[in-house]
Amino acid sequence: MKFDKNNTNNMTNKPANKIQDLQFFGEFGGVNPSVSDSSTFTFQSAKTMFDMFEGNAEGCYLYARHTTPSCLYLGQALAAMEGTETANVSASGMGSITSVLMQLCTANDHVVSSRTIYGGTYAFLKNFAPKININTSFVDITNLESVEDAITPKTTVLYCESISNPLLEVADIPSLAKLAKKHNLKLVVDNTFSPLSISPKELGADIVIHSLTKFINGSSDTVGGVVCGTQEMIDSLRSVIDGAAMLFGATMDSIRASSILKNLRTLHIRIKQHSLNAMYLAQKFENDGVKTVYPGLKSHPSHTIFKSMMNSEYGFGGMMTIDVGNLEKANGLMELMQKENLGYLAVSLGFYKTLFSAPGSSTSSEIPEDEQRKMGLTDGLIRFSIGLDNDIERTYNKMKECMQKIGVIS
Ligand code: PLP
Repeated sequence: MKFDKNNTNNMTNKPANKIQDLQFFGEFGGVNPSVSDSSTFTFQSAKTMFDMFEGNAEGCYLYARHTTPSCLYLGQALAAMEGTETANVSASGMGSITSVLMQLCTANDHVVSSRTIYGGTYAFLKNFAPKININTSFVDITNLESVEDAITPKTTVLYCESISNPLLEVADIPSLAKLAKKHNLKLVVDNTFSPLSISPKELGADIVIHSLTKFINGSSDTVGGVVCGTQEMIDSLRSVIDGAAMLFGATMDSIRASSILKNLRTLHIRIKQHSLNAMYLAQKFENDGVKTVYPGLKSHPSHTIFKSMMNSEYGFGGMMTIDVGNLEKANGLMELMQKENLGYLAVSLGFYKTLFSAPGSSTSSEIPEDEQRKMGLTDGLIRFSIGLDNDIERTYNKMKECMQKIGVIS
């Protein structure tokens, strides 16, 4: 990966350093913090317990659905990574997304959201939130004029993904932050596809969300989520009176929090390798005449915007798509690649092996077909989460053979 001297983020923003600079000690001097294996916590005085319910007992633990020391350690590391005051971890990415939206919106509020977002988030905003009179306008997030046109006096939230699932559209976060400020909205950015590479808070976002299930945990053995934001926002999510995180109860278990924290420490090494491998394959596929979308390619419509926002040492990330023309070819190619042990035909991302799926019939199937067409989500699209392969040239040669067999390239 080349060092981009015009990118000032290079010099200042090394989020992996901020994770590494944290120092934890376990109960007996262990190098990992001890796991708090309790669902409830004692109080030496009844008065302190009362104060806790009133929100006035700083540093005390009450009940594991509120938070635990292990969840706080993980939250602290993720807040350091994103440069926010603090963070709250939850049982899944959707647990974080739904609690943030429910905390920020009340009945009759309006959300402006990118139309290319994870299918579950889309389904929540499109089908569930209207039940409580929260309505959403879905817009092309790369068209700032249409974003501003969709804002009404009832709008409270502007929602997007830094790199969208599955189309890999890039949100111009600094410009969206300006719009949000102008109209007094909260800019909420799901940064699941680009941890370390993009730091949305540094670029002006108010709240940053991740599905920890993906790159951050990196071993496809759990679901998890995080909301990174101000102390005030996180306190409101955890409020025993009206906090969406506390009351909806999507709580992360302490043992899981502890294992995700251990995996987080190698994130910078993994992301660099995911990025190198994805860049290599994207360039090769594009040269072979395959329709390839990857933010690191000059042909990507938002390549320059991504470059201006990125912390360049971590690269353009591990996600890419190719379009092989139709669903039959897409399915044939994915089945063959799995047979050849080039990865798994599976949803999700951020694993050490390459994962591939056809989003139109899987992770984005919640989006009606006509809307999929409007946003450019075609039947032949395959989404790849490129793995940590040690010999990416060998992988490319084998993938090319598969593509030739299926008739994607000659
Ligand atoms: N955000 C993005 C961009 C995703 O891709 C996903 C899941 O695929 C989610 C959020 C939801 O996360 P989880 O599955 O951890 O609830």
